[in-house]
Amino acid sequence: MSDDRPAIPDPYLPETGTPDFTVAHYDLQLEVKLAANRVAGRARLEGTVLHRTRRITLDLHGLSVSKVTATGAGRPVKVARSSARRGRLVVDLAVTLDAGADLVLDVTYAGVPSLRQGAWGEIGWEELADGVLVAGQPHGASTWFPCVDHPSVKSTYHLTVTTDAGYLPVCNGLPTGHRRRSSREEWSWELRDPAPSYLVTLQIGRYQLVAVPDDAPQGHPSPAHPAAEGTAPVFLAVSRALQDRAQEVLGVQTAMMACFSRAFGPYPFARYTAVVTDDALEIPLEAASLSIFGSNHLTGSWPAERLVAHELAHQWFGNALTLRRWRDIWLHEGFACYSEWLWGAESGRAALESYARTAWRGLAAQDQDLLVADPGPELMFDDRIYKRGALALFALRQELGAEAFGGLLRDWVAAHRHGTVDTGTFLAHADRHAEAAGLAAGHATRVLHPWLFETALPALPAARRAAVAPR
Ligand SMILES: [Zn+2]
Repeated sequence: MSDDRPAIPDPYLPETGTPDFTVAHYDLQLEVKLAANRVAGRARLEGTVLHRTRRITLDLHGLSVSKVTATGAGRPVKVARSSARRGRLVVDLAVTLDAGADLVLDVTYAGVPSLRQGAWGEIGWEELADGVLVAGQPHGASTWFPCVDHPSVKSTYHLTVTTDAGYLPVCNGLPTGHRRRSSREEWSWELRDPAPSYLVTLQIGRYQLVAVPDDAPQGHPSPAHPAAEGTAPVFLAVSRALQDRAQEVLGVQTAMMACFSRAFGPYPFARYTAVVTDDALEIPLEAASLSIFGSNHLTGSWPAERLVAHELAHQWFGNALTLRRWRDIWLHEGFACYSEWLWGAESGRAALESYARTAWRGLAAQDQDLLVADPGPELMFDDRIYKRGALALFALRQELGAEAFGGLLRDWVAAHRHGTVDTGTFLAHADRHAEAAGLAAGHATRVLHPWLFETALPALPAARRAAVAPR
């Protein structure tokens, strides 16, 4: 049903990733000249060879490579040739390496990063009016560093970014250093929890890094329960002009995090940072341990707060538990959409059932031609996956009752935290929980199947019985 081997190549993105090499750690040193939108970088990829080979193919889009060196088991390995073209960096070694061999690749590269075109628009490194944004999902990491760009390859990262004075580069994880170098400034960040390359990011702006106070602002809806264990500090990276407004609107994230850590288990990273760009953004973006919002998302209205909850929920569903194949995107988006409803209910706006009903009516008015568990690459980010994926979870909750379903979710996160997941593994997990709650063997799969593997919209799920005894 499930295995831990990387599913490469992925049929949805066959031109990225390699089955021959996996990366445990990246060390990236990046010099960014903002006016020219020019980068010069050095990337050190510490990894393991997975199949006997003398050729390693990395992802690198639109940047030129001046030097590649290799080290195996502490000794230099001669690089016979390297060439970068069509989104790939091919490194031919002078010797053949066996499966299991350690391999460190050092790549020196430079250029003007360009967006990568996909069925989902332009992805990757993007110039803002006054700074830089990176949107990595699904295949944008290669626009700024050489990598194995596949969600099932999870690595830790150390990033050192030097850029113009007065600008703050914000990356994943924790800031670990800052120094001035004449008219430039150097900042270091470290992500110690493993994440795939698409969830690594760099945001540059005239940002200030400010902590969000632990208490939700006065008058904001907050959950009735006291804050749970397992939350982490929340920070904002925002320009001075937007700082007050951001605190007012995004202060709610501490209460949200408490809500989600009760519902799903401890927040999975050391810190959460919400970046707010001065530019308006069409949609917010998620990255490991941080999210990126546009200035237009600071309205404080429910449609905007819903997105804030959605992005935070991705830290559990998508970032800590990451799909093995892109076709399983509902395991990110369905769960994040369900989390929006959960926050709406917890903060006293509306009952979960009412969100489910609204979503169901919306879906009923649309074409019934999408398979949630295998939508095809073009429809991978179709809104119907979000809503119908959330309804699949809601259907399961209706069968199991809130308490047993809550346990199922927390166990799901605990069992696969910082790992990769697929739909089959989730079905098996749900069946085990349903059986433990007194339902027939295979019952959860029977409930989920029409939502995930059939196109026709199932009926809006009613509560099966109030009396699946909590254990
Ligand atoms: Zn999402």
